[in-house]
Amino acid sequence: MLLIKIGGGKQIHIDFICKDIKSFVDKGEKIILVHGASTKRDEIAKELNWPTKTITSPSGISSVYTDAKSIDIFLMVYAGLVNKHIVATLQKNGVNAVGLSGIDGKLWQGKRKKVVYSQIGEKTKLITDSMTGKVEKINSNLITLLLKKNYVPVLCPPALSEDNEIINTDNDWVTSVMVGSLGINKMVVLFEAPGMLKKYGDESSLIKTIDKNHLDNYLQFTQGRMKKKLLGAKEAFRQGLKTMYWSDGRVSNPISNALKGVGTTIL
Ligand code: ADP
Repeated sequence: MLLIKIGGGKQIHIDFICKDIKSFVDKGEKIILVHGASTKRDEIAKELNWPTKTITSPSGISSVYTDAKSIDIFLMVYAGLVNKHIVATLQKNGVNAVGLSGIDGKLWQGKRKKVVYSQIGEKTKLITDSMTGKVEKINSNLITLLLKKNYVPVLCPPALSEDNEIINTDNDWVTSVMVGSLGINKMVVLFEAPGMLKKYGDESSLIKTIDKNHLDNYLQFTQGRMKKKLLGAKEAFRQGLKTMYWSDGRVSNPISNALKGVGTTIL
């Protein structure tokens, strides 16, 4: 079973990814695809006059501030526009994909964060209307059911809270919880860089391998959301993952390349 997580960056090449998935499905590999949609969300949010706002936690991690209106935009773009385009592209390539959000069948269930902290300079602000949360439970039965019948699940946020509220959640975290509940050994993460770079922006500074026990040493090289990927990776290994591949989602054969060790291999 192979878990693939793709970012929501503008240059992520969905066609290349779907073509490559087809080659794995033909070999009998069970694939689960989890996707983001951040660029499209920001675009549509701006058009709807409700631009995406980000906050930085006191520990320096930035995330999206999701209020009630943003969660509706989020829902439209992730579970609608982007999810269905990916499903259609997979279908075009001969892959029988099924698109689901974390809400469907309580696929991703979590706790809503009642309070979120936002650090602005010296000041810490308390936010109480944030519709975000942390996924704790996966409906693995639903995923197994689909895989058994040779469907490729295409999954995306939002998730559902214990009180059945729609909540935004972090894909790098959800995928690590999925690793634990589905017993996944291999995971491919595709984004807009050849892998983990020592110097962000300098593609020749690619780090080829990372020891899973020393992930913290690499925090110094990360910028923005890359930090979350490192934290997600740490959790995925804690949940039993054997190998994680970070690779380029902009090129052809991105998954095959990743598994050949073209990007960064963490083990
Ligand atoms: P997501 O995959 O969840 O959409 P992002 O695209 O927001 O995540 O974050 C990953 C991005 O972080 C990469 O596409 C890359 O542009 C950037 N990045 C920051 N620091 C690094 C680094 N040290 N090495 C590689 N990429 C980095």
